[in-house]
Amino acid sequence: MNRVDPQFAGEIAGIRNAISRSNRTDYVTTYTEREFFNGKTTLERVLILRTRGCSWSYHSGCSMCGYWDDTNPEIGKAELENQVSAFLKEFPRGEVLKIFTSGSFFDPIEIDSGSQHEIIERVLEGYGHLIVESRPEYIHKVVGDLKRYGNRVQVAIGLESTDPDILKNSVNKNYDFDDFKKAATLLRENGVSVRTYLLLKPPFVTESEAVKDAIKSARDLAPYSDFISINPMNIQRGTLVEKMYREGNYRPPWLWSVVTVLQSLKGVGVPTVSLITASGKKRGSHNGHSCDRKFSEGIRKYSETLDYAYLDDLSCECKETWRNFVEVEEETGAPISEVVLND
Ligand code: SF4
Repeated sequence: MNRVDPQFAGEIAGIRNAISRSNRTDYVTTYTEREFFNGKTTLERVLILRTRGCSWSYHSGCSMCGYWDDTNPEIGKAELENQVSAFLKEFPRGEVLKIFTSGSFFDPIEIDSGSQHEIIERVLEGYGHLIVESRPEYIHKVVGDLKRYGNRVQVAIGLESTDPDILKNSVNKNYDFDDFKKAATLLRENGVSVRTYLLLKPPFVTESEAVKDAIKSARDLAPYSDFISINPMNIQRGTLVEKMYREGNYRPPWLWSVVTVLQSLKGVGVPTVSLITASGKKRGSHNGHSCDRKFSEGIRKYSETLDYAYLDDLSCECKETWRNFVEVEEETGAPISEVVLND
């Protein structure tokens, strides 16, 4: 099956190419977050490197991905080395470091192969574990070298869904579940653990289809993954999803839906968390009610501890409105936009 619809890919490229890119050469940002990792609540440091950007974005890119505006096409080896040096000078050590690149760490066009390993070795002098992200197509070239770091390196792959129709016609991912399975299997056979991201509520699907897809996808991929992160959609600048949102044709998922997905995956056998960007805000997952803060907090605490009590304790009168929203969408067969709730 062809993984890309040229017309859809072209529309996404047109929107992406209209936004300006960065001319900076420093790293994008660094911050900390807590997560349940290696059997306990762990403080993790995140470093976002500024690179030339995801190679897939040079052709088209994913419908929800707005990382493009942080990237600078002029960035090469020297700039990346400077970014890592500046970061390590300020934050030389810690338990876990996540390096994100607005693309793929193992894409040799984005970060040349020599630099990839120099960076890994430099950061592992001070950090216990390193998590990096990559599309699956780059894995076969690097997996032999990754063996030497054993379980100190984890590779995260943004699969988003296992449904081929969603990957092609909603996300424009340009890879499929089989590609993921091959890469994940190769990594795990070589002692490298795999983290998988799933996107909750890609465009063009209803709330209930999104919930079902996230649950099914997590169950499908669990045998190939050591960790699952459910990422509810947040609206990023310069994306097809932002255009739909502005036109009133897209609403990010309800926090009720996030809770439902996580509760349904209780027995999935793989730690499953959800660190939500813009939680409770209009551009992120929200109930649109005064309970947004309580729900965001409950999901965050659950993701730090894997204690389901934080989810099971959540309740609010707006559950009825969420149920009605889901039902109306099912009846009309089409996603609907925001409904205004009074507290
Ligand atoms: S989501 Fe990942 S693969 Fe898709 S365009 Fe963004 S960086 Fe590239």
